[in-house]
Amino acid sequence: MNDGMTDGLIQETWLRVCNNLRAEVGETSYKSWLKPMAVREVRDGKVRISVPTRFMRDWVMAHYAERLENLWCDEMPEVSSIDVFVQTERAASLPTSKKVEEAPKPTQDINPKNNSYDSYRNEISAPLDARFTFDQFVVGKPNEFAHAAAQRVAEATRLQFNPLFLYGGVGLGKTHLMHAIAWHIRKADPSRTVMYLSAEKFMYRFIRALREQNTVDFKEQFRSVDVLMIDDVQFISGKDSTQEEFFHTFNALVDQGRQIVISADKSPSEMEGMEERLKSRLNCGLVADIHATTYELRLGILLSKSEQAGVEVPRKVTEFLAHKITANVRELEGALNRVIAHAQLVGREISLETAQEVLHDLLRANDRRVTIEEIQKRVASHFNIRMSDMHSARRARSVARPRQVAMYLAKQLTSRSLPEIGRKFGGRDHTTVMHAVRKVDELRESDAGFAEDVELLRRMLEG
Ligand code: ADP
Ligand code: MG
Repeated sequence: MNDGMTDGLIQETWLRVCNNLRAEVGETSYKSWLKPMAVREVRDGKVRISVPTRFMRDWVMAHYAERLENLWCDEMPEVSSIDVFVQTERAASLPTSKKVEEAPKPTQDINPKNNSYDSYRNEISAPLDARFTFDQFVVGKPNEFAHAAAQRVAEATRLQFNPLFLYGGVGLGKTHLMHAIAWHIRKADPSRTVMYLSAEKFMYRFIRALREQNTVDFKEQFRSVDVLMIDDVQFISGKDSTQEEFFHTFNALVDQGRQIVISADKSPSEMEGMEERLKSRLNCGLVADIHATTYELRLGILLSKSEQAGVEVPRKVTEFLAHKITANVRELEGALNRVIAHAQLVGREISLETAQEVLHDLLRANDRRVTIEEIQKRVASHFNIRMSDMHSARRARSVARPRQVAMYLAKQLTSRSLPEIGRKFGGRDHTTVMHAVRKVDELRESDAGFAEDVELLRRMLEG
């Protein structure tokens, strides 16, 4: 049943793949999404992996399929694809299929019946980052409103803004503000229970509770907190059962006069795949957005961070960084840290030249960040089709193929996820994008002319 490989070898390889992936995605994501997977067989170059629920399968396919495939391929070149399928726990324990000892076992659970609710709650609530306080948040035009709203919620003795909905692009300080609220409340009144967790974790917990049939306990946990904060709720849009549960939890808490704080990368109204009634409930509190950084804010953040690090950074260097690293605060912070670390390692003063040298890769990436629209335009004109065909439902090969090429290049040249790419192509599903990527890869192998075309487009787009 396996391609001439022993089960032992396969499971060993799987363990290595898991460990690599764990190092990449971090412990939390690993435990939530990857640990429950089990390899069932390797046949015809295809690795068959089982997961306990359909939802998990979709999640793993959307977020980790490609990485898993590459990691397998690194370990076993004969592997060309992976297949994730649903197998319930009971079926999984039948003698025909083996499970690995260490890696893919469901995480050990705390049974709330045997433990105090507190310990259960502490386990659900994610740890707070000690650096994410109001003190360390630099306020500027783009974030002053969100900051003021967060501060009001943190200091409020009665409910004023409920829910507080913070939204903005990645790396702009949403999580920082949420942690700052939590720190503040915990310090001001330790008797109030604050629960902070990612929507991803909320969802995972909920699904696990469903599986283990203890949703009643699950609900109780959330419904007994004073302040509930859920980070990155865009993750639950489109996930109907989780949304439903979230909605009920949310209503119950609001009705009981508990504070809710939510973050997302879009406003409630812009959230696709979210139920109208949930949208409107989210909209009825205070919605505060964090805008993209300005030069002044970036400069302020650099000054504050270098002061905290106790390092003298020449004005020229901070100005240079504030001009060049514009994507978000996380990247800006990373750039500054790299410059500082480098100077300390080689024992030299920080200068403009060393900064440019140390950051050359980052600077280049910031210089030419290709957008999906540019890719679509370029590919459309290359193949002589209309730009609108990138979004249309037409399936004729003459437009479908260029569309696939554009999806492929979007995957290669941008950091967008498969679902994000799908959305930009007329709201297509992530599996369509995945299929396109595979198809183009196949064609590049078999058709030299086609491969050249793709290569040419890539070079033009990379500038
Ligand atoms: P998001 O949750 O919006 O993706 P984070 O809150 O994780 O972003 O912020 C990314 C990094 O940038 C964090 O290290 C955070 O401390 C820092 N950061 C963001 N905004 C600010 C700010 N205004 N002042 C200081 N640090 C900031
Ligand atoms: Mg965040």
